[in-house]
Amino acid sequence: MVLGGGSAGWLTAATLAAELGGDAPDALQITLIESPDVPSIGVGEGTWPTMRATLHRIGLSEVDLIRDCDAAFKQGSRFDGWLHGGVADRYYHPFTLPHGWGDVDLAGAWLQGDREQPFADSVGPQPHLCDAHLAPKQTTTPDFGGVMNYGYHFDAVKLGHLLQRHATVKLGVRHVVNHFIAVRSHENGDIAALTTRECGDIEGDLFIDCSGLGSLLLGRHYGVAFRSEKGVLFNDSALAVQVPHADAQAPLASATISTAHAEGWTWDIGLPTRRGIGLVYSTSHTGDEAAERSLQAYLDRSGLSAGRATPRRLRFDPGYRERFWHRNCVAVGLAAGFIEPLEASALALVELSAAFLRDEMPASRADMDLVARRFNQTFAYRWSRIIEFLKLHYVLSRRDDADYWREHREAATLPDSLRELLQLWAHRAPSRNDFDRAEEVFPAASYQYVLYGMRFQPALRPLRADRLAAARARMSDVTTMTRRLLGGLPRHRDLLQHIRAHGLPPAA
Ligand SMILES: Cc1cc2nc3c(=O)[nH]c(=O)nc-3n(C[C@H](O)[C@H](O)[C@H](O)COP(=O)(O)OP(=O)(O)OC[C@H]3O[C@@H](n4cnc5c(N)ncnc54)[C@H](O)[C@@H]3O)c2cc1C
Repeated sequence: MVLGGGSAGWLTAATLAAELGGDAPDALQITLIESPDVPSIGVGEGTWPTMRATLHRIGLSEVDLIRDCDAAFKQGSRFDGWLHGGVADRYYHPFTLPHGWGDVDLAGAWLQGDREQPFADSVGPQPHLCDAHLAPKQTTTPDFGGVMNYGYHFDAVKLGHLLQRHATVKLGVRHVVNHFIAVRSHENGDIAALTTRECGDIEGDLFIDCSGLGSLLLGRHYGVAFRSEKGVLFNDSALAVQVPHADAQAPLASATISTAHAEGWTWDIGLPTRRGIGLVYSTSHTGDEAAERSLQAYLDRSGLSAGRATPRRLRFDPGYRERFWHRNCVAVGLAAGFIEPLEASALALVELSAAFLRDEMPASRADMDLVARRFNQTFAYRWSRIIEFLKLHYVLSRRDDADYWREHREAATLPDSLRELLQLWAHRAPSRNDFDRAEEVFPAASYQYVLYGMRFQPALRPLRADRLAAARARMSDVTTMTRRLLGGLPRHRDLLQHIRAHGLPPAA
């Protein structure tokens, strides 16, 4: 039983129904309850590449997503103004790993060179493709296949509708539109049923809390403690607005553009028909009016002042629950926690949670506590890695235009694990040895992109001549590859138009 019909609820219900549902006697019967009175949050428009496998496994096609959800390709993030806020202060965190990752030490070779070209631009073609507004694939590349690694930008509300249609019509999920009002419990404290306003009690074995920031089952019913991370990552508010493109045929960005400002940072996501823009800020440092002025200044600078809607304000307490799975209740999505949207990790955590449930679904109640313990360990680890990685963006900043930036790099606000890693990275590049779980949320390459994008300067032992030559040879491959791709890949906007009109070859 899933409580909540936002992106978390529908992704989880579809992931479970696609592989554990059906007509067999032992198949899971999945019901999703959604309130007619409480809208889903409606933001969350940038994904990781993981979304391709998630959609493929639930039986949706990329063409469905592009046609129905105003979707576009996302090749990574571009960070503007994060280092000092001056001219030319920008770097990419692309989704594609550095060329020859694992075979040669491109970071070592780059650090030993003149560093005239930014790190990400030297170790792979993707930043150049983003600058040229090109797509990560060809018209002939199959559904979900890529020349470069990519995720998506989309309209979150439309994604919700697509997932709902697919889950109910194709995957057999039962949809109850009714307001949940109370829990009926078993004597042992497990949840027996959810009481709804008009549909009575709906019974179940496992209750997946996707009720959003209210965390109605895990937080409110069970009172599982919330672990606030506001002392590490200060942001607790966002202003979000959707605006038409200044020119409907303008080249379409395929990276989320994250721009730092004295008051916080803006996200800027380009969809084929509009841009989704928002400012993320900390109310301990910036008042709402100053935040609005900052967002407006960004829109004005971007030539997007005309026809602007009033921004929507969202408040959140950055942090997560001390446990995610308690008794026969597991929280997924905002009900489990939320940290600011830098690097857009929230939907990826939903996908990982749903996949864990699909792969490890307890065979009986007797096994559930064991599975729950493993789930809790895995996701506590993932949350701590996300917090550490997001904090890295602030710690390396040299911006000095507001207390917000100065306080973000104060030693007392750093997680111990990040302090240790920075000490190690003063003498060597981040490597696979630093992150050894089978499914890390951010690979060592992501840390390299941010560290060297932000001009972190380690004192490395010089590479041996043969290792340096091997790495430089790969870098010159990057130059050749980039030239070839710049000449061969379609414009991002053109490819999306082509897909809407003609589709894509089916996935292999
Ligand atoms: C400013 C901002 C920007 C973000 N950007 C990104 C991003 O770029 N990428 C990303 O991955 N994530 C992003 N996120 C996070 C992302 O939006 C969420 O993780 C995602 O939308 C999942 O939300 P949800 O389904 O958990 O909650 P919600 O969308 O809030 O859904 C909650 C559901 O619970 C139901 N419900 C609530 N109360 C009741 C009740 N009493 N009875 C029955 N049903 C009830 C509601 O009807 C609704 O269907 C962002 C979040 C914010 C705040």
